Amino acid sequence: MVFDWPYMIGLLWSRDFWNATLVVVELSIATWVLAVVLGFFVALAHGSDLWVVRRSAAIYVWFFRSLPLLVLLIFVYNLPQAFPSTSDLLSVPFVAGLIAMVLSETAYIAEIHRGALVAVGKGQYEAGRVLGLSRAGIQRLIVIPQALRIALPSLGNEFVSIVKLTSLVSAISLAEILLVGQRYYTQNFKVIETMVAVAFYYVLIVTVFDTGLKALERRLDFSRRLAELTTEDAEPSGAIARAIGDDTPAASTEPAIRLDRGGKSYGIHSVFENLNFSVKPGEVVSIIGPSGSGKTTLIRSLNGLETLDNGVVYLEERPFLAGSKEKLAKSLRHDRRDALRIGMVFQNFNLFPHRTALENVMMGPLYHGRADLSQLRKEARTLLDQVGMLVHENKYPHQLSGGQQQRIAIARALAMHPSILLFDEPTSALDPETVGEVLRIIAALARSGRTMVIVTHEMKFAMDVSDRVIFMEKGSIVFDGSPAQLRERRKNDVRLEEFVRL
Ligand code: ADP
Repeated sequence: MVFDWPYMIGLLWSRDFWNATLVVVELSIATWVLAVVLGFFVALAHGSDLWVVRRSAAIYVWFFRSLPLLVLLIFVYNLPQAFPSTSDLLSVPFVAGLIAMVLSETAYIAEIHRGALVAVGKGQYEAGRVLGLSRAGIQRLIVIPQALRIALPSLGNEFVSIVKLTSLVSAISLAEILLVGQRYYTQNFKVIETMVAVAFYYVLIVTVFDTGLKALERRLDFSRRLAELTTEDAEPSGAIARAIGDDTPAASTEPAIRLDRGGKSYGIHSVFENLNFSVKPGEVVSIIGPSGSGKTTLIRSLNGLETLDNGVVYLEERPFLAGSKEKLAKSLRHDRRDALRIGMVFQNFNLFPHRTALENVMMGPLYHGRADLSQLRKEARTLLDQVGMLVHENKYPHQLSGGQQQRIAIARALAMHPSILLFDEPTSALDPETVGEVLRIIAALARSGRTMVIVTHEMKFAMDVSDRVIFMEKGSIVFDGSPAQLRERRKNDVRLEEFVRL
Protein backbone atom coordinates (compact mmCIF):
# COMPACT_ATOMS: atom_id res chain seq x y z
CA MET A 1 0.00 0.00 0.00
CA VAL A 2 1.50 3.36 -0.98
CA PHE A 3 1.44 6.42 1.22
CA ASP A 4 -1.47 8.60 0.13
CA TRP A 5 0.14 12.06 0.09
CA PRO A 6 -2.84 13.97 -1.33
CA TYR A 7 -5.09 12.50 1.38
CA MET A 8 -2.64 13.35 4.16
CA ILE A 9 -2.13 16.92 2.92
CA GLY A 10 -5.90 17.30 2.64
CA LEU A 11 -6.19 16.46 6.35
CA LEU A 12 -4.11 19.54 7.15
CA TRP A 13 -7.03 21.65 5.98
CA SER A 14 -9.67 19.56 7.68
CA ARG A 15 -12.21 21.65 9.61
CA ASP A 16 -12.67 18.75 12.11
CA PHE A 17 -8.97 18.73 12.88
CA TRP A 18 -8.76 22.50 13.30
CA ASN A 19 -11.78 22.44 15.64
CA ALA A 20 -10.10 19.65 17.60
CA THR A 21 -6.88 21.71 17.71
CA LEU A 22 -8.85 24.57 19.23
CA VAL A 23 -10.27 22.19 21.87
CA VAL A 24 -6.76 20.96 22.72
CA VAL A 25 -5.44 24.53 22.97
CA GLU A 26 -8.33 25.60 25.20
CA LEU A 27 -8.08 22.54 27.41
CA SER A 28 -4.30 22.83 27.72
CA ILE A 29 -4.29 26.54 28.54
CA ALA A 30 -7.14 26.20 31.04
CA THR A 31 -5.44 23.22 32.73
CA TRP A 32 -2.07 24.95 32.83
CA VAL A 33 -3.34 28.27 34.19
CA LEU A 34 -5.52 26.65 36.87
CA ALA A 35 -2.82 24.17 37.88
CA VAL A 36 -0.15 26.91 38.06
CA VAL A 37 -2.35 28.96 40.40
CA LEU A 38 -3.65 26.06 42.53
CA GLY A 39 -0.23 24.40 42.57
CA PHE A 40 1.23 27.55 44.05
CA PHE A 41 -1.19 27.40 46.97
CA VAL A 42 -0.43 23.70 47.49
CA ALA A 43 3.30 24.54 47.49
CA LEU A 44 2.73 27.30 50.06
CA ALA A 45 0.65 24.88 52.14
CA HIS A 46 3.59 22.49 52.02
CA GLY A 47 5.66 25.09 53.89
CA SER A 48 2.92 26.03 56.36
CA ASP A 49 3.60 26.23 60.09
CA LEU A 50 0.44 24.17 60.70
CA TRP A 51 1.05 20.44 60.69
CA VAL A 52 -2.41 19.59 59.38
CA VAL A 53 -2.07 21.97 56.41
CA ARG A 54 1.43 20.69 55.62
CA ARG A 55 0.28 17.08 55.83
CA SER A 56 -2.82 17.68 53.67
CA ALA A 57 -0.66 19.24 50.95
CA ALA A 58 1.78 16.31 51.08
CA ILE A 59 -1.06 13.76 50.87
CA TYR A 60 -2.64 15.59 47.93
CA VAL A 61 0.63 15.58 45.98
CA TRP A 62 1.36 11.95 46.84
CA PHE A 63 -2.13 10.73 45.87
CA PHE A 64 -2.63 12.58 42.60
CA ARG A 65 0.90 11.90 41.38
CA SER A 66 0.38 8.20 42.02
CA LEU A 67 -2.89 7.98 40.14
CA PRO A 68 -2.71 7.44 36.34
CA LEU A 69 -4.49 10.27 34.53
CA LEU A 70 -6.56 7.82 32.50
CA VAL A 71 -7.97 6.26 35.68
CA LEU A 72 -8.78 9.70 37.04
CA LEU A 73 -10.45 10.75 33.78
CA ILE A 74 -12.73 7.72 33.66
CA PHE A 75 -13.49 8.11 37.36
CA VAL A 76 -14.47 11.79 37.10
CA TYR A 77 -16.47 11.25 33.90
CA ASN A 78 -18.45 8.42 35.50
CA LEU A 79 -18.97 10.10 38.84
CA PRO A 80 -22.58 11.03 37.93
CA GLN A 81 -23.43 7.30 38.23
CA ALA A 82 -22.83 7.58 41.96
CA PHE A 83 -23.83 11.24 42.31
CA PRO A 84 -26.54 12.03 39.73
CA SER A 85 -26.58 15.68 40.79
CA THR A 86 -23.14 16.13 39.19
CA SER A 87 -24.43 14.89 35.86
CA ASP A 88 -25.06 18.33 34.30
CA LEU A 89 -21.46 19.28 34.88
CA LEU A 90 -19.46 16.09 34.58
CA SER A 91 -21.20 14.54 31.62
CA VAL A 92 -19.70 17.35 29.50
CA PRO A 93 -16.43 15.69 28.39
CA PHE A 94 -14.53 19.00 28.29
CA VAL A 95 -15.43 19.79 31.91
CA ALA A 96 -14.71 16.27 33.18
CA GLY A 97 -11.41 16.27 31.29
CA LEU A 98 -10.48 19.68 32.65
CA ILE A 99 -11.24 18.68 36.26
CA ALA A 100 -9.25 15.45 36.02
CA MET A 101 -6.30 17.14 34.35
CA VAL A 102 -6.24 20.04 36.81
CA LEU A 103 -6.37 17.63 39.79
CA SER A 104 -3.44 15.68 38.42
CA GLU A 105 -1.35 18.58 37.09
CA THR A 106 -1.76 20.64 40.27
CA ALA A 107 0.16 17.93 42.10
CA TYR A 108 3.06 18.03 39.62
CA ILE A 109 3.15 21.80 39.35
CA ALA A 110 3.02 22.18 43.16
CA GLU A 111 6.32 20.32 43.27
CA ILE A 112 7.83 22.66 40.68
CA HIS A 113 6.70 25.68 42.70
CA ARG A 114 7.97 24.11 45.90
CA GLY A 115 11.44 23.67 44.41
CA ALA A 116 11.40 27.27 43.19
CA LEU A 117 10.27 28.60 46.57
CA VAL A 118 13.08 26.72 48.28
CA ALA A 119 15.54 28.14 45.75
CA VAL A 120 14.66 31.69 46.89
CA GLY A 121 17.18 31.89 49.70
CA LYS A 122 16.46 32.51 53.36
CA GLY A 123 18.38 35.78 53.06
CA GLN A 124 15.65 37.20 50.81
CA TYR A 125 12.99 36.60 53.48
CA GLU A 126 15.25 38.13 56.11
CA ALA A 127 15.96 41.21 53.98
CA GLY A 128 12.19 41.65 53.59
CA ARG A 129 11.66 41.23 57.32
CA VAL A 130 14.20 43.85 58.32
CA LEU A 131 12.49 46.28 55.94
CA GLY A 132 9.29 45.61 57.90
CA LEU A 133 7.39 43.83 55.12
CA SER A 134 4.52 41.60 56.22
CA ARG A 135 4.54 37.90 55.31
CA ALA A 136 2.16 38.58 52.43
CA GLY A 137 4.28 41.54 51.32
CA ILE A 138 7.42 39.41 51.29
CA GLN A 139 5.65 36.80 49.18
CA ARG A 140 4.18 39.32 46.75
CA LEU A 141 7.15 41.60 46.25
CA ILE A 142 10.14 39.37 46.84
CA VAL A 143 9.47 35.64 46.75
CA ILE A 144 6.80 35.11 44.08
CA PRO A 145 8.51 37.16 41.34
CA GLN A 146 11.75 35.28 41.90
CA ALA A 147 10.12 31.86 42.31
CA LEU A 148 8.10 32.30 39.12
CA ARG A 149 11.20 33.15 37.15
CA ILE A 150 12.98 30.09 38.55
CA ALA A 151 9.96 27.87 37.85
CA LEU A 152 9.12 29.18 34.39
CA PRO A 153 11.30 26.79 32.31
CA SER A 154 9.82 23.79 34.16
CA LEU A 155 6.31 25.24 33.94
CA GLY A 156 6.78 25.63 30.18
CA ASN A 157 7.88 22.03 29.99
CA GLU A 158 4.80 21.00 31.91
CA PHE A 159 2.62 22.82 29.39
CA VAL A 160 4.09 20.65 26.64
CA SER A 161 3.26 17.55 28.71
CA ILE A 162 -0.29 18.81 29.21
CA VAL A 163 -0.79 19.28 25.45
CA LYS A 164 0.26 15.68 24.90
CA LEU A 165 -1.80 14.38 27.82
CA THR A 166 -4.97 15.88 26.31
CA SER A 167 -4.90 12.93 23.87
CA LEU A 168 -6.00 10.77 26.80
CA VAL A 169 -9.23 12.74 27.00
CA SER A 170 -10.27 10.92 23.81
CA ALA A 171 -11.06 8.07 26.21
CA ILE A 172 -14.07 10.03 27.43
CA SER A 173 -15.20 11.00 23.91
CA LEU A 174 -13.94 14.55 23.80
CA ALA A 175 -13.46 15.46 20.15
CA GLU A 176 -9.80 16.29 20.47
CA ILE A 177 -7.16 15.65 17.82
CA LEU A 178 -6.54 11.94 18.48
CA LEU A 179 -10.24 11.09 18.59
CA VAL A 180 -10.86 12.91 15.30
CA GLY A 181 -7.95 10.96 13.78
CA GLN A 182 -9.34 7.66 15.09
CA ARG A 183 -12.73 8.42 13.55
CA TYR A 184 -11.08 9.08 10.19
CA TYR A 185 -8.92 5.97 10.02
CA THR A 186 -11.63 3.61 11.21
CA GLN A 187 -13.57 4.69 8.11
CA ASN A 188 -10.80 4.45 5.50
CA PHE A 189 -7.97 2.47 7.18
CA LYS A 190 -5.42 5.11 6.18
CA VAL A 191 -3.85 4.88 9.64
CA ILE A 192 -0.37 6.13 8.81
CA GLU A 193 -1.52 9.14 6.79
CA THR A 194 -4.01 10.11 9.50
CA MET A 195 -1.48 9.73 12.32
CA VAL A 196 1.02 11.91 10.42
CA ALA A 197 -1.66 14.60 10.29
CA VAL A 198 -2.41 14.07 14.02
CA ALA A 199 1.31 14.46 14.76
CA PHE A 200 1.40 17.64 12.68
CA TYR A 201 -1.31 19.29 14.80
CA TYR A 202 0.33 18.37 18.11
CA VAL A 203 3.77 19.51 16.96
CA LEU A 204 2.26 22.76 15.70
CA ILE A 205 0.61 23.55 19.05
CA VAL A 206 3.73 22.69 21.05
CA THR A 207 6.02 24.69 18.76
CA VAL A 208 3.86 27.82 18.84
CA PHE A 209 3.49 27.78 22.63
CA ASP A 210 7.08 26.79 23.27
CA THR A 211 8.26 29.80 21.27
CA GLY A 212 5.91 32.08 23.20
CA LEU A 213 6.98 30.69 26.58
CA LYS A 214 10.67 31.00 25.71
CA ALA A 215 10.09 34.65 24.79
CA LEU A 216 8.31 35.19 28.12
CA GLU A 217 11.15 33.47 29.92
CA ARG A 218 13.65 35.81 28.28
CA ARG A 219 11.54 38.83 29.22
CA LEU A 220 11.37 37.79 32.87
CA ASP A 221 15.03 36.87 33.10
CA PHE A 222 16.53 39.89 34.83
CA SER A 223 19.98 38.33 34.60
CA ARG A 224 19.87 39.06 30.84
CA ARG A 225 18.81 42.64 31.26
CA LEU A 226 21.42 45.18 30.38
CA ALA A 227 21.94 48.24 32.45
CA GLU A 228 21.08 51.53 30.88
CA LEU A 229 24.21 53.10 32.25
CA THR A 230 27.67 51.67 32.13
CA THR A 231 29.58 54.64 33.43
CA GLU A 232 32.66 54.12 35.55
CA ASP A 233 32.22 53.60 39.26
CA ALA A 234 32.07 56.77 41.28
CA GLU A 235 33.51 57.53 44.65
CA PRO A 236 30.97 58.39 47.34
CA SER A 237 30.13 62.05 46.99
CA GLY A 238 31.56 64.34 49.63
CA ALA A 239 28.10 64.75 51.07
CA ILE A 240 28.18 61.38 52.79
CA ALA A 241 29.11 62.26 56.34
CA ARG A 242 26.91 65.34 56.36
CA ALA A 243 23.78 63.82 54.86
CA ILE A 244 24.04 60.43 56.47
CA GLY A 245 24.11 62.21 59.81
CA ASP A 246 20.44 63.11 59.33
CA ASP A 247 19.14 60.46 61.67
CA THR A 248 21.53 60.99 64.53
CA PRO A 249 19.80 60.28 67.83
CA ALA A 250 19.04 62.92 70.39
CA ALA A 251 21.44 62.75 73.34
CA SER A 252 20.08 60.38 75.98
CA THR A 253 21.60 58.45 78.81
CA GLU A 254 19.43 55.36 78.53
CA PRO A 255 20.62 52.58 76.22
CA ALA A 256 19.37 52.69 72.65
CA ILE A 257 19.20 48.90 72.73
CA ARG A 258 19.84 46.44 75.52
CA LEU A 259 19.86 42.68 75.85
CA ASP A 260 19.14 41.43 79.34
CA ARG A 261 20.05 37.84 80.37
CA GLY A 262 20.11 36.63 76.76
CA GLY A 263 20.21 32.86 76.28
CA LYS A 264 20.21 30.91 73.03
CA SER A 265 20.76 27.24 72.21
CA TYR A 266 20.55 25.23 69.02
CA GLY A 267 19.38 21.83 70.22
CA ILE A 268 21.78 20.81 72.94
CA HIS A 269 24.41 23.30 71.78
CA SER A 270 24.29 26.43 73.91
CA VAL A 271 25.55 29.51 72.03
CA PHE A 272 25.32 31.86 75.01
CA GLU A 273 23.66 32.07 78.41
CA ASN A 274 22.83 34.98 80.62
CA LEU A 275 24.42 37.45 78.24
CA ASN A 276 24.06 41.17 78.92
CA PHE A 277 24.78 43.71 76.25
CA SER A 278 23.83 47.32 75.69
CA VAL A 279 24.55 50.18 73.34
CA LYS A 280 24.10 53.86 74.10
CA PRO A 281 22.61 56.27 71.57
CA GLY A 282 25.25 57.41 69.10
CA GLU A 283 27.68 54.73 70.21
CA VAL A 284 29.59 52.59 67.71
CA VAL A 285 30.23 49.11 69.10
CA SER A 286 32.29 46.50 67.28
CA ILE A 287 31.99 42.86 68.23
CA ILE A 288 35.06 40.80 67.50
CA GLY A 289 36.08 37.27 68.39
CA PRO A 290 36.85 33.87 66.92
CA SER A 291 34.40 32.10 64.61
CA GLY A 292 31.60 30.30 66.38
CA SER A 293 31.74 32.50 69.48
CA GLY A 294 28.15 33.70 69.00
CA LYS A 295 28.66 37.18 67.52
CA THR A 296 26.24 36.74 64.62
CA THR A 297 23.66 35.00 66.81
CA LEU A 298 23.86 37.91 69.25
CA ILE A 299 23.38 40.62 66.62
CA ARG A 300 20.55 38.69 64.93
CA SER A 301 18.83 38.27 68.29
CA LEU A 302 18.66 42.05 68.65
CA ASN A 303 16.20 42.42 65.76
CA GLY A 304 14.41 39.10 66.09
CA LEU A 305 15.98 37.28 63.14
CA GLU A 306 16.97 34.70 65.75
CA THR A 307 14.53 33.93 68.54
CA LEU A 308 16.13 33.91 71.94
CA ASP A 309 15.27 31.21 74.45
CA ASN A 310 15.76 33.45 77.46
CA GLY A 311 16.16 37.14 78.06
CA VAL A 312 14.56 40.34 76.86
CA VAL A 313 15.68 42.90 74.29
CA TYR A 314 14.78 46.48 75.23
CA LEU A 315 14.57 49.25 72.68
CA GLU A 316 15.08 52.57 74.49
CA GLU A 317 14.25 50.66 77.68
CA ARG A 318 10.88 49.45 76.42
CA PRO A 319 10.55 45.65 76.10
CA PHE A 320 10.80 44.87 72.40
CA LEU A 321 11.53 41.14 72.06
CA ALA A 322 11.43 38.36 74.63
CA GLY A 323 12.92 34.88 74.63
CA SER A 324 10.50 32.03 73.94
CA LYS A 325 10.78 30.84 77.53
CA GLU A 326 10.05 34.26 79.02
CA LYS A 327 6.63 34.98 80.49
CA LEU A 328 6.73 38.31 78.70
CA ALA A 329 6.96 36.55 75.30
CA LYS A 330 3.22 35.93 75.10
CA SER A 331 2.13 39.39 76.13
CA LEU A 332 4.66 41.21 73.94
CA ARG A 333 3.02 42.16 70.67
CA HIS A 334 5.62 42.46 67.99
CA ASP A 335 5.31 45.99 66.72
CA ARG A 336 6.63 46.29 63.19
CA ARG A 337 7.13 50.04 63.62
CA ASP A 338 9.62 49.36 66.39
CA ALA A 339 11.39 46.77 64.27
CA LEU A 340 11.78 49.39 61.55
CA ARG A 341 13.94 51.42 63.87
CA ILE A 342 16.64 48.78 63.54
CA GLY A 343 18.34 48.59 60.16
CA MET A 344 20.51 45.68 59.14
CA VAL A 345 23.28 45.08 56.64
CA PHE A 346 23.99 41.42 55.93
CA GLN A 347 27.19 39.57 55.17
CA ASN A 348 25.82 38.40 51.80
CA PHE A 349 24.08 41.72 51.03
CA ASN A 350 20.73 40.00 50.34
CA LEU A 351 19.81 42.51 47.66
CA PHE A 352 16.67 41.68 45.71
CA PRO A 353 18.05 40.28 42.44
CA HIS A 354 14.92 41.10 40.43
CA ARG A 355 15.05 44.77 41.34
CA THR A 356 17.46 47.49 40.21
CA ALA A 357 19.73 49.29 42.67
CA LEU A 358 17.26 52.17 42.88
CA GLU A 359 14.28 49.84 43.34
CA ASN A 360 16.13 47.98 46.09
CA VAL A 361 16.64 51.21 48.00
CA MET A 362 13.04 52.33 47.43
CA MET A 363 11.41 49.00 48.33
CA GLY A 364 11.03 49.63 52.11
CA PRO A 365 9.89 53.27 52.10
CA LEU A 366 7.55 52.63 49.16
CA TYR A 367 5.97 49.63 50.88
CA HIS A 368 5.36 51.68 54.02
CA GLY A 369 4.06 54.65 52.01
CA ARG A 370 6.54 56.98 53.63
CA ALA A 371 6.11 59.64 50.92
CA ASP A 372 4.95 59.93 47.34
CA LEU A 373 6.83 58.15 44.61
CA SER A 374 8.77 61.12 43.26
CA GLN A 375 9.86 62.16 46.75
CA LEU A 376 10.98 58.62 47.56
CA ARG A 377 12.85 58.33 44.29
CA LYS A 378 14.64 61.60 45.05
CA GLU A 379 15.60 60.40 48.54
CA ALA A 380 16.77 57.03 47.24
CA ARG A 381 18.89 58.69 44.57
CA THR A 382 20.43 60.97 47.19
CA LEU A 383 21.35 57.91 49.27
CA LEU A 384 22.78 56.15 46.25
CA ASP A 385 24.83 59.26 45.55
CA GLN A 386 26.10 59.24 49.11
CA VAL A 387 27.38 55.70 48.75
CA GLY A 388 28.82 56.48 45.31
CA MET A 389 26.36 54.28 43.45
CA LEU A 390 24.13 56.77 41.66
CA VAL A 391 25.70 56.02 38.29
CA HIS A 392 24.59 52.42 38.77
CA GLU A 393 21.03 53.17 39.88
CA ASN A 394 19.48 51.21 37.00
CA LYS A 395 21.69 48.16 37.27
CA TYR A 396 20.64 44.84 38.70
CA PRO A 397 22.65 43.33 41.58
CA HIS A 398 24.24 40.66 39.38
CA GLN A 399 25.77 43.41 37.25
CA LEU A 400 27.66 44.85 40.22
CA SER A 401 30.70 43.82 42.26
CA GLY A 402 30.30 42.62 45.84
CA GLY A 403 31.51 45.94 47.20
CA GLN A 404 29.03 47.84 45.05
CA GLN A 405 26.20 45.55 46.13
CA GLN A 406 27.07 46.07 49.77
CA ARG A 407 27.05 49.84 49.27
CA ILE A 408 23.53 49.56 47.85
CA ALA A 409 22.54 47.36 50.79
CA ILE A 410 23.77 50.11 53.13
CA ALA A 411 21.73 52.71 51.21
CA ARG A 412 18.70 50.38 51.40
CA ALA A 413 19.05 50.11 55.18
CA LEU A 414 19.48 53.90 55.52
CA ALA A 415 16.38 54.56 53.41
CA MET A 416 14.21 53.43 56.32
CA HIS A 417 15.84 56.05 58.61
CA PRO A 418 16.68 53.51 61.32
CA SER A 419 17.87 54.76 64.68
CA ILE A 420 20.17 51.75 65.10
CA LEU A 421 22.19 50.05 62.39
CA LEU A 422 23.40 46.48 62.69
CA PHE A 423 26.20 45.19 60.46
CA ASP A 424 26.74 41.43 60.35
CA GLU A 425 30.26 40.90 59.01
CA PRO A 426 29.65 43.40 56.20
CA THR A 427 32.96 42.78 54.43
CA SER A 428 33.46 39.03 54.97
CA ALA A 429 31.99 38.06 51.60
CA LEU A 430 33.95 40.67 49.64
CA ASP A 431 37.05 40.46 47.49
CA PRO A 432 39.99 42.10 49.25
CA GLU A 433 40.05 44.97 46.74
CA THR A 434 36.45 45.98 47.45
CA VAL A 435 36.63 45.77 51.25
CA GLY A 436 38.06 49.29 51.53
CA GLU A 437 35.21 51.02 49.69
CA VAL A 438 32.63 49.49 52.05
CA LEU A 439 34.66 50.16 55.19
CA ARG A 440 35.06 53.83 54.18
CA ILE A 441 31.28 54.20 54.02
CA ILE A 442 30.71 52.46 57.36
CA ALA A 443 33.44 54.65 58.90
CA ALA A 444 31.70 57.78 57.56
CA LEU A 445 28.45 56.57 59.10
CA ALA A 446 30.20 55.91 62.40
CA ARG A 447 31.65 59.44 62.42
CA SER A 448 28.21 60.91 61.79
CA GLY A 449 27.08 59.88 65.25
CA ARG A 450 24.82 56.94 64.42
CA THR A 451 24.15 54.11 66.82
CA MET A 452 25.86 51.12 65.29
CA VAL A 453 26.71 47.53 66.18
CA ILE A 454 29.24 45.93 63.86
CA VAL A 455 30.30 42.29 63.88
CA THR A 456 33.61 42.32 62.09
CA HIS A 457 36.93 40.58 61.56
CA GLU A 458 38.55 43.83 60.40
CA MET A 459 40.60 44.60 63.51
CA LYS A 460 42.19 47.83 62.39
CA PHE A 461 38.83 49.14 61.24
CA ALA A 462 37.18 48.15 64.53
CA MET A 463 39.89 49.90 66.53
CA ASP A 464 39.68 53.04 64.37
CA VAL A 465 35.92 53.60 64.21
CA SER A 466 34.53 52.14 67.44
CA ASP A 467 33.71 53.82 70.70
CA ARG A 468 33.68 50.36 72.27
CA VAL A 469 35.05 47.01 71.25
CA ILE A 470 33.56 43.79 72.58
CA PHE A 471 35.56 40.59 72.41
CA MET A 472 33.42 37.45 72.48
CA GLU A 473 34.67 33.96 73.03
CA LYS A 474 32.62 30.78 73.49
CA GLY A 475 29.43 32.74 74.03
CA SER A 476 30.84 35.09 76.67
CA ILE A 477 31.92 38.70 76.53
CA VAL A 478 35.52 38.50 77.71
CA PHE A 479 36.39 42.13 77.02
CA ASP A 480 34.23 45.23 76.75
CA GLY A 481 35.96 48.61 76.57
CA SER A 482 37.33 51.41 74.43
CA PRO A 483 39.95 50.74 71.74
CA ALA A 484 42.51 52.46 74.01
CA GLN A 485 41.60 50.09 76.87
CA LEU A 486 41.85 47.14 74.49
CA ARG A 487 45.36 48.21 73.43
CA GLU A 488 46.33 48.40 77.08
CA ARG A 489 44.71 45.07 78.01
CA ARG A 490 46.25 43.07 75.19
CA LYS A 491 49.71 43.76 76.51
CA ASN A 492 48.91 41.39 79.39
CA ASP A 493 46.46 39.09 77.72
CA VAL A 494 48.04 36.54 75.39
CA ARG A 495 44.72 35.33 73.97
CA LEU A 496 43.57 38.86 73.15
CA GLU A 497 46.96 39.77 71.74
CA GLU A 498 46.92 36.70 69.53
CA PHE A 499 43.52 37.54 68.16
CA VAL A 500 43.74 41.29 67.81
CA ARG A 501 47.29 41.35 66.40
CA LEU A 502 47.08 44.45 64.22
P1 ADP B 1 30.12 33.74 65.06
O1 ADP B 1 29.29 34.80 64.45
O2 ADP B 1 30.87 34.21 66.25
O3 ADP B 1 31.01 33.05 64.08
P2 ADP B 1 27.64 32.31 65.29
O4 ADP B 1 26.76 33.18 66.10
O5 ADP B 1 27.45 32.30 63.83
O6 ADP B 1 29.15 32.62 65.64
O7 ADP B 1 27.50 30.81 65.79
C1 ADP B 1 27.64 30.45 67.14
C2 ADP B 1 27.45 28.96 67.28
O8 ADP B 1 26.12 28.61 66.98
C3 ADP B 1 28.32 28.16 66.33
O9 ADP B 1 28.78 27.02 67.02
C4 ADP B 1 27.40 27.76 65.23
O10 ADP B 1 27.77 26.54 64.66
C5 ADP B 1 26.07 27.66 65.96
N1 ADP B 1 24.96 28.01 65.08
C6 ADP B 1 24.73 29.21 64.51
N2 ADP B 1 23.60 29.19 63.79
C7 ADP B 1 23.09 27.95 63.89
C8 ADP B 1 21.93 27.28 63.38
N3 ADP B 1 21.02 27.92 62.62
N4 ADP B 1 21.73 25.99 63.72
C9 ADP B 1 22.60 25.33 64.50
N5 ADP B 1 23.72 25.89 65.03
C10 ADP B 1 23.97 27.18 64.72
